[in-house]
Amino acid sequence: MASYNLLLLPGDGIGPEVMAEVERVIRWLDANSGVHFETETDLVGGSAYDVHGVAITDETMKTAMAADAVIFGAVGGPKWDAVPYEVRPEAGLLRLRKDLELFANLRPAICYPALADASSLKREVVEGLDILILRELTGGVYFGEPKEIVTLENGEKRAVDTQVYTTHEIERIARVAFELARARRNKVTSMEKRNVMRSGVLWNQVVTAVHKAEYPDVQLEHMLADAGGMQLVRWPKQFDVIVTDNLFGDMLSDVAAMLTGSLGMLPSASLGAPDPATGKRKALYEPVHGSAPDIAGKGIANPIAMIASLGMALRYSFDMGEAADLVDGAIADVLASGTRTADLAAKGQNSVSTREMGEAIVKAM
Ligand code: ATP
Ligand code: MG
Repeated sequence: MASYNLLLLPGDGIGPEVMAEVERVIRWLDANSGVHFETETDLVGGSAYDVHGVAITDETMKTAMAADAVIFGAVGGPKWDAVPYEVRPEAGLLRLRKDLELFANLRPAICYPALADASSLKREVVEGLDILILRELTGGVYFGEPKEIVTLENGEKRAVDTQVYTTHEIERIARVAFELARARRNKVTSMEKRNVMRSGVLWNQVVTAVHKAEYPDVQLEHMLADAGGMQLVRWPKQFDVIVTDNLFGDMLSDVAAMLTGSLGMLPSASLGAPDPATGKRKALYEPVHGSAPDIAGKGIANPIAMIASLGMALRYSFDMGEAADLVDGAIADVLASGTRTADLAAKGQNSVSTREMGEAIVKAM
């Protein structure tokens, strides 16, 4: 029987509350899917800082490196606002991303029919939407050197951030985009600003070359990132997989998030390079939302983003597409039946607790 190790890092705020519902789904899968899941739970973020004085320990990092996937809740909150910068809760997630070399960030934007009216756009524009934004996560202007603020001779200051991309970095993210598209609707839209940025020129050339050499069967289209942003809110259903750099991806994925309604619905995955020996990628799965300190401890957080993140782990780390479809289908069914956590409920409509939503999803599975 296939067996996988999951490292669960619930974190802070609502993290532990939504993780408890993922554990419910994992227990169900363990009992019913013919695949065995071994889980280990550890501290990250503020809760790790309180015990160990750091946002993630070396020990936890070792476990993460060895795990088949890391399932991450959320970190941070006002309690830790004053802790030193190097050990702030967010440092735990940044270290995981860096040490596991998670260069590919996948953010699906799916609009469940039952929630189409919660979008900021018209129902017809978003109903049935199912697109995937693929953001390069470890390069670009967020990391390029030089990165500094210098004081000039005349007393003025000068701030510099540098956009850097290498052929290798663009090739590996392009491959992920084409692979993902092959398993979906077979279309990739690459977005950059080649009209004003040298990195955009190289991005365009490298994506085109990878397409020609390795994925000619996939439809490829190029779009300037500003026009892409406009198209994303005009008619988002024209897209399948959008691949773009770290900065544009940060912005475009937040725009895509708002197409679908609630922050409590959106999962994400961050993938590393395939191991040359086994072909397995390091991977971390987490909801897009944060620790939501305002509702923490009340038992009302929406666990769907967290549970859908486990669904992505089934699809992308364990090759369990049918089980992933089962999870996604259960979420859609539960929503269609009218079950809502407080964030999704209309004024005056009854809402269920975090736990009741988790139970309803497992029951639907
Ligand atoms: P971060 O800095 O970690 O992104 P944040 O405070 O900017 O955190 P979130 O924690 O994502 O943002 O939450 C923003 C608001 O959205 C919360 O205050 C909360 O009311 C709501 N929210 C976020 N996630 C959920 C959820 N799973 N269920 C219900 N409401 C949520
Ligand atoms: Mg935020």
